[in-house]
Amino acid sequence: MPVYEYKDLLLNIIEQDSEYFGYFEAAKEHKLVVKKCLDCDLLRGEPGASCPWCSSMRSEWHEVSGKGTIYSYQIIPHAILPGFRDWTPYPVVLVELDEQSGKPLEHDGLRITANLLDENMNPEHEENVAIGKRVNVVFQDMENGLTLPQFTLSDEEPAGAIWRYPNT
Ligand SMILES: [Zn+2]
Repeated sequence: MPVYEYKDLLLNIIEQDSEYFGYFEAAKEHKLVVKKCLDCDLLRGEPGASCPWCSSMRSEWHEVSGKGTIYSYQIIPHAILPGFRDWTPYPVVLVELDEQSGKPLEHDGLRITANLLDENMNPEHEENVAIGKRVNVVFQDMENGLTLPQFTLSDEEPAGAIWRYPNT
């Protein structure tokens, strides 16, 4: 596989997925950002062009703590891309960040998707993954210059019940 320079990757992101550009710019500085609506002030994990709550197109990047709770997860047993072959089985987690939990409505929250890694930046063992566990953001600096925000399990006690899918 060719190794791209960071600037080339960013150009690629601009061309194909410009809404994520600021996310990766901040990640390179080891900051986790989400979009904040400049009209209703709500944060959103999906960096789409318009606010899902008020449809405003006005937004800015807003730094968040990177602390949160696993809201849901999936274990990926087969790699679609060859580069992930050595990672399988690996967890993908949907994390509800501490900012804006339960807003604007009771079941809403600021949620983002990433991988769950162990302290060596390898995929966390699937038996350690569970809904309700506390996590912190970490930044995975890739050899090609791109930095990915990821999560690791935290020592913090969970606020609620821990739950795993049956037979996983
Ligand atoms: Zn809004």
